[in-house]
Amino acid sequence: MNDKRRILIVEDEEHIADGLKLNLTLQGYEAVIAADGVSALDLWKSWRPDLIVLDIMLPRIDGISVLRNIRLEDQKIPILILSARSTQADKIEGLKHGVDDYLAKPFDLEEFLLRVERMLTRVTMYKSNDLSGAEKIGAQGRLYRFGDNEIDFVDSTAQCMAGKIFLTEQEIKLLKLFVANRGKALSRQKLLEIGWGYTRNMTTRTVDNFLVRFRKYFEKDPKNPEYFKSRRSVGYIFDHD
Ligand code: CA
Repeated sequence: MNDKRRILIVEDEEHIADGLKLNLTLQGYEAVIAADGVSALDLWKSWRPDLIVLDIMLPRIDGISVLRNIRLEDQKIPILILSARSTQADKIEGLKHGVDDYLAKPFDLEEFLLRVERMLTRVTMYKSNDLSGAEKIGAQGRLYRFGDNEIDFVDSTAQCMAGKIFLTEQEIKLLKLFVANRGKALSRQKLLEIGWGYTRNMTTRTVDNFLVRFRKYFEKDPKNPEYFKSRRSVGYIFDHD
């Protein structure tokens, strides 16, 4: 049995990634490297790490999009941002999207290892006295209501204009993204990056098709949407009273 804690290192600078992997391995962790945002999401899904070390400036999709994608499904996995962009704005952006800790490059290796250890300990403590975890879906709770609609994020169903419907995994993901960003315009590109974690071989038309469906489900008049509105040359915005 292998019960080593798994750490995913998302870092495109090879020498940094290799150095972290070596040191984490010496500490008794199992570590794997993802060199871009897309493989980071693939490994997060297939390898199920216990902690993620995440760089912000990455090829293909950036670290913040990776972070937001993960947080739509998993609010708990500890994420440590490791970035050269040590500006205050980046820090706030990261914290806003559910980063647990932040370390600016260049960093002290000793400090890095201590933080990793501390984050993993904290998670173990949460897990052992977490009774309501299963009931909670992210920050928005199980049920979400707007107008005459109600979405159940646990059962993946909705009570809406079309009656009771079953929502697909991808629909649920996008709905969570809209709810989390209520009142803020989201570009098609961002919706693809965060909602799918993938941008190649996909066109923004995919996003439009989902919005057509959401309007059919949730709008009284899909041609004059109240909740899922278009923002010309930007994308979409979800809002309600
Ligand atoms: Ca980088």
